[in-house]
Amino acid sequence: MIYDRVALIGLGLIASSMAHAIKAAGLAGEVTGFARSAETRATAREIDLCRVCDTVAEAVAGADLIVLAVPVGAMGDLAAEIAPHLKPGATVTDVGSVKQAVIEAVAPHIPEGVHFIPGHPLAGTEHSGPRSGFASLFRNRWWLLTPPEGCDPAALRRLEDLCRGMGANVDTMDAPHHDLVLAVTSHTPHLIAYTMVGVADDLRRVTDSEVIRYSAAGFRDFTRIAASDPTMWRDIFLTNKAATLDILGRFTEELFALQRAIRLGDGEHLHEYFTRTRAIRRGIIDAGQDTSAPDFGRGEK
Ligand code: NAP
Repeated sequence: MIYDRVALIGLGLIASSMAHAIKAAGLAGEVTGFARSAETRATAREIDLCRVCDTVAEAVAGADLIVLAVPVGAMGDLAAEIAPHLKPGATVTDVGSVKQAVIEAVAPHIPEGVHFIPGHPLAGTEHSGPRSGFASLFRNRWWLLTPPEGCDPAALRRLEDLCRGMGANVDTMDAPHHDLVLAVTSHTPHLIAYTMVGVADDLRRVTDSEVIRYSAAGFRDFTRIAASDPTMWRDIFLTNKAATLDILGRFTEELFALQRAIRLGDGEHLHEYFTRTRAIRRGIIDAGQDTSAPDFGRGEK
């Protein structure tokens, strides 16, 4: 057992997956939880996710680890609310997809004697809510931690042990670097997927039923990504603004270069470009972060 009591605040996909994974591996004596709506709390109780509390104060009281698992834009207010109820020596972490903005919003509320170690599991699905979680979500995925300078080494080790206990690989980096890496690997790709699905939706010469009926692999994968939670993704773009705009600028330049190659019939440019990008896919598979099965292992439907 790593912690006597873990409090999960927000009972969505990430928190509910953590509850399952912590219970399955016996990583905590007790898991408490709180969500803002009575409906989400009732669902969590119904599926016996953890000891669900009716106030956030009750959920965090006596907890050794408090996990903030709400949308990025809600973290600051939540930190202010829990601050008076934190046990000295406890650790607060979060699972937000952006790190600098969360640190700016949360750190000022953390009382003296409480550790704050921000984190981000690189794992998710397009589903939300307490019913969407499952114990193996974090298996073989990265859990990035962005410990502040002077962070207590024992508190950090303990949190790392919890992440590893849930099956994740742990790495640490600074928050600005995290935000840039994620702008490349997650945030901008999501924006592109949202855009492409939006374009298809706007294209009145192709009917909605054709878009759905003849949906080929590329578009289908975009629609899965573009089905992600709107609140979560709104907050990500509002808070990881600089890095996303930087990557989007580069993306637009590359897109124009490819557009020009198509117009000029420059097959060599296109072939060379696609050869380079294919190698990146190979690298992701070799790193064990995806399957090489055709159609991402989904099989024909
Ligand atoms: P989710 O399934 O949508 O659940 C969000 C939870 O936060 C719900 O319990 C919701 O409560 C609560 N909440 C929403 N707005 C709130 C507010 N203003 N104040 C207090 N509580 C609020 O979300 P999730 O996918 O678990 O994401 C949680 C965090 O993990 C986000 O910061 C996200 O960036 C990060 N993350 C997500 C993924 C992913 O793929 N989903 C991956 C890595 C990290 P109610 O149900 O009562 O409204």
